[in-house]
Amino acid sequence: MISVEEALEILLSNLPERKMERVPFQEALGRVLAEELVATCDIPPFNRSSMDGFAVRAVDVKNPPVELDVIGESRAGGGIPPGLKAGEAVAIMTGAPVPEGADAVEVIEQCELVAGGKKIRVLRPVQSKDNIAPQASEAKAGSVAITAGHRVGPAEIAVMATFGYSRVNVYGQPSVAIFATGDELVEVDATPQPDQIRNSNAYCLASQLRLMGLRADYLGIVRDDREELRRAMLAGLERDVLIITGGVSMGEYDFVRDVFQDLELEILFSKVAIKPGKPTVFARKGNKLVFGLPGNPISALITFECFVRPALGRLCGMTAPELPRMKGELQADMRQSPGRTAFMPAWVTWQDDGWKVEPLKWKSSADIIGFTGANATFIFPKNRDLLRRGEIVEIMLLPDFFVRQR
Ligand code: AMP
Ligand code: MG
Repeated sequence: MISVEEALEILLSNLPERKMERVPFQEALGRVLAEELVATCDIPPFNRSSMDGFAVRAVDVKNPPVELDVIGESRAGGGIPPGLKAGEAVAIMTGAPVPEGADAVEVIEQCELVAGGKKIRVLRPVQSKDNIAPQASEAKAGSVAITAGHRVGPAEIAVMATFGYSRVNVYGQPSVAIFATGDELVEVDATPQPDQIRNSNAYCLASQLRLMGLRADYLGIVRDDREELRRAMLAGLERDVLIITGGVSMGEYDFVRDVFQDLELEILFSKVAIKPGKPTVFARKGNKLVFGLPGNPISALITFECFVRPALGRLCGMTAPELPRMKGELQADMRQSPGRTAFMPAWVTWQDDGWKVEPLKWKSSADIIGFTGANATFIFPKNRDLLRRGEIVEIMLLPDFFVRQR
């Protein structure tokens, strides 16, 4: 049995090349830029006023009050204003070009209109450069605005718009297929017989993928039958990544590993010292990745976050897609049998001066209902059997942390 860290290492050294595609810039949200975006013009494109007021020469208003002739106006989008000379001012709005000759903008609150608006009286001195954003002070044409590898958020979309990048190169998104295995499983809209349960894992995993911005093809429920599994796997292997849940344990009817062997998949690990989720299998065939996740609902959920997410995030071009970790104070004594790193569901909140970790009451790795209140997991080190209330523990935030934000 390998450790969680060893499993991750194996996983990350077996990832195929990332793909690239060109998309309309608005579709780049959440994607990773695969090219450098260069400023196509100066920003600001001219010396820009950052206040409403009057463009002046700072030397003219050194000893206020001073009266200046108002010779014109500069407004955003209103053309380039006339230049000004000693003793003159130009009314100016936020975002408008500063006229030639002016080196400062006096804010409107410090100016009084006199002579019916033909003149102003300036009440306070300004320093040269005050309230002016100089041309190219934010970006110089030809300079790098956003480096490759950047994940695109709203600000990056704004920069693309600013520089006229209507299409951009981003890393591709892997195509993903999911199927669930188990003779006991029925679909959501069916009424289970006494020996049956509804398939919940496929939908849970599909939701986890969606929170990563990925969509999966659902290939349905597959019986615990070697031939059926083989057919479903061949269909799944047409995608970049196949996620299977169930059938990876050591039971009489757990055929997933056998079929991996039948199809000559290279099994890279098949048992990890993680709780829940020990029988997690990771395999590849050429460029295709296959995950065999355990059937217990929380095992499937946790092993997705611990193994599938880091792999898929990297295929999408991310460099650190792992869920964020932090530390917090445990609010109750907790026990476990040592030997495996355990990820325990918790409700984590900021209180007073730190993160507090309230462990959830859950019955087992099958108890998805007990897990519904979790926004994080805390990590129970594998060499420990008791964590005491008040101890500082490591927390792995779940994507639910933001989904459940109140
Ligand atoms: P397995 O990994 O196939 O041994 O399944 C372990 C447990 O998880 C069993 O109790 C299964 O009934 C349950 N299980 C397996 N697959 C699913 C699924 N897709 N949805 C909900 N429960 C499942
Ligand atoms: Mg099963």
